[in-house]
Amino acid sequence: MRIILLGAPGAGKGTVAELLIEKYGIPQISTGDMLRSAVKAGTDLGKQAADFMNRGELVPDALIMGLIENRLQEPDARGGFILDGFPRTIEQADQLAAILTKLGMGLDLVVNLEVPEDVIIRRLTSRRTCSNPNCQAIYNIYTKPSQRDGVCDKCGSPTVQRDDETEAVIKKRLSTYQEKTAPLIGYYERNPAYCSVPSLVAGEVIDAIVQRLNR
Ligand code: ADP
Ligand code: ZN
Repeated sequence: MRIILLGAPGAGKGTVAELLIEKYGIPQISTGDMLRSAVKAGTDLGKQAADFMNRGELVPDALIMGLIENRLQEPDARGGFILDGFPRTIEQADQLAAILTKLGMGLDLVVNLEVPEDVIIRRLTSRRTCSNPNCQAIYNIYTKPSQRDGVCDKCGSPTVQRDDETEAVIKKRLSTYQEKTAPLIGYYERNPAYCSVPSLVAGEVIDAIVQRLNR
């Protein structure tokens, strides 16, 4: 099963990916998580990516494509994967198509998660993330608080607001999304694997996806 999750920041891609992992046992490939790990680990890639990320801009395609091409060839991705936060530009989508052709892989589902902008802003400002780079569990102060305030349930590390989750950076991320990523909807719309679902309740998104895959 090979799935692409499209949607604005805060559309619920991570939550939907978690449910799909449980259901299908395939790995989530999140370029955002991979980049944040690289930043924390202080690798060359991390150093090159950090400023773009903290400004709410996209990291240059050249940095992303090498990361993805390697990741898609790891053994756990052989049975499929969920792409979360990639592709983010038409250029990345074109290059992904070329990589998939080269690897003899097709796409089963490209799903766009639809959420109104006011809901997105509320979701993003209420998000807390585990500061342990190996954990990165995500919480929400309203809908999914950790059991102890500010402490990760899974690993006990402090939970924090991401550097790119202040109101100003969030506005920038949303405008970056509109300009660079939203055009992917038009790009994939005519692909038989494409569908678009309202993303207010994660469980309902999964039901819609399963129904669609069984069609
Ligand atoms: P979001 O919540 O905005 O979907 P992500 O965790 O996917 O956040 O990404 C965080 C940041 O990492 C982005 O704002 C961007 O700077 C960078 N990033 C992640 N994936 C990509 C990508 N495919 N192309 C370019 N930049 C990316
Ligand atoms: Zn944790």
